[in-house]
Amino acid sequence: MIKRNVLLNPGPSTTTDSVKMAQVVPDICPREKEFRDIMKQLRKDLLKVVHADEDKYTAVLFCGSGTINIDVCINSLVPQNKKILVINNGAYSARAVEICEYYGLDYINLKFKEDERPDLNLVEKMLKDNPDIALVHTTHNETGTGLLNPIREIGALVHKYGAVFTVDTTSTLAMRPIDIEKDNIDFCMASAQKGLMAMTGLSFVIGNKNIIEQSKEYPKRSYYCNLYLQYEFFEKTGEMHFTPPVQTVYATVQALKEYFEEGEDNKWARHTRVFNAIRKGAIELGFREVIREEWQAGLVDALLYPDDDNWDFDKIHDYCYERGFTIYPGKITGTNTFRLCALGAIDEDDINDFYSVFREALNESGVKIPVTYKR
Ligand SMILES: *Cc1c(COP(=O)(O)O)cnc(C)c1O
Repeated sequence: MIKRNVLLNPGPSTTTDSVKMAQVVPDICPREKEFRDIMKQLRKDLLKVVHADEDKYTAVLFCGSGTINIDVCINSLVPQNKKILVINNGAYSARAVEICEYYGLDYINLKFKEDERPDLNLVEKMLKDNPDIALVHTTHNETGTGLLNPIREIGALVHKYGAVFTVDTTSTLAMRPIDIEKDNIDFCMASAQKGLMAMTGLSFVIGNKNIIEQSKEYPKRSYYCNLYLQYEFFEKTGEMHFTPPVQTVYATVQALKEYFEEGEDNKWARHTRVFNAIRKGAIELGFREVIREEWQAGLVDALLYPDDDNWDFDKIHDYCYERGFTIYPGKITGTNTFRLCALGAIDEDDINDFYSVFREALNESGVKIPVTYKR
């Protein structure tokens, strides 16, 4: 028996014991055919999660956390003397902007408020005025706030102007249903620890094979993190170029098996149930949300700190943590928030249990219930 913790942070998520145990396997050299076969099937199964046609799309695996995917896509998919447009309304798109900066790429940081959806007229104007934009990048669910970006609409614009569309789907993939083709995505990405409810250390980009093949001619800006080079190595040998996260691969295989057993629709229904329970509890306690309801992705609830002198996030965190529930600070510039997330192998009952503990934590701290705000 492994102690079960309910993680309400935005990943890694609560996993099943069967996924945890799947890592305990006989030692194996990952250059063996047995392991190559496992990765081959894993890459195929990842395509199915986003309904990607095997002839047109491929899944390329990397050893690293989810940020490696953003790095890989941005440094690999821009031809010489072309520009990147980042549609930026949150912390994760801001990370993509930093990646452009660090690689010395020519980019436009099209910034919007963190609690608002991007203005599509402005996006179109940018594309029209800058015909040298080759790549447009944005985030599906801005995990810092829980705002859902209209990727299908953005993707349609990107394609109208002949650019490539990369979407950071790290906090939606395998939770909120995605159809790569219908959603106008050329490249999406995630890490095994989030929607798939596996372990940390394995990340993957799912994208258009033709575009990857075209990128063979683009400048190679990274040795370890180039998309074409990793793809080519997989195509030639069936292996990762460098050592893969072996045990995480086994956990991910088990997690995918459980994903298909639960089913896309049932899983999304469960996350929705959990999210609704999170919102209901928060609102009952008087908390204010950062993102208006119709713009929420349904996976991350960002809540404002109440105006109460006794509110001490760390103290409340510690009280909950000691009782098996992990809550998480926010990620919004200039505002004090915390987050409760609906990822992982949890259900409504866990949220009800959480709120009994959370309520106790508020009482212990002397925070007035319902919580209050000055304005
Ligand atoms: C979690 C997450 C990432 C990856 O973050 P790491 O710290 O590298 O795991 C990237 N994008 C989004 C939207 C995420 O939620």
